[in-house]
Amino acid sequence: MSNITLTIIKPDAVGNGFSGKIIDHILAAGFKIKAMKMIHMNEREAGGFYDVHRERPFFNDLVAFMTSGPCIPMVLEKDNAVADFRATIGATNPKEAAEGTVRKLYAQSIEANAIHGSDSDENARREASYFFSELEIF
Ligand code: ATP
Ligand code: MG
Repeated sequence: MSNITLTIIKPDAVGNGFSGKIIDHILAAGFKIKAMKMIHMNEREAGGFYDVHRERPFFNDLVAFMTSGPCIPMVLEKDNAVADFRATIGATNPKEAAEGTVRKLYAQSIEANAIHGSDSDENARREASYFFSELEIF
């Protein structure tokens, strides 16, 4: 099996009606969707996902943003999935994101930045199992 990565279409992008365009962008970039659902996280769920950022000054705002509406977690598969997907979505701050990246096209700000992408193979596996059971990832 090739590598997997975990993405989330974040509440800003879902609310702005960009989900379909972003899914098209991901498929056109060569990723295969292995699992997908729409959920509305509560504070405990969003805080657990971003546990590594708990001590960062933006943690409370980040949890408030991630619980502000529904989001779409997906498990994606591709060779070199983690690095290729981070290139596909662009820099965390859309002002610094390269032309043609998901964040350049669809993100509003460094916080409301449209999409998440795992930053390592180990975190991709942890994050995939945070949202999906083994049976849901085919
Ligand atoms: P993600 O993990 O969502 O793919 P990332 O790996 O590019 O993004 P991280 O450093 O992991 O960035 O930060 C996680 C998320 O926290 C960012 O996507 C963004 O929504 C938010 N964030 C990061 N830095 C800031 C900041 N300085 N101010 C506000 N929000 C921030
Ligand atoms: Mg990150």
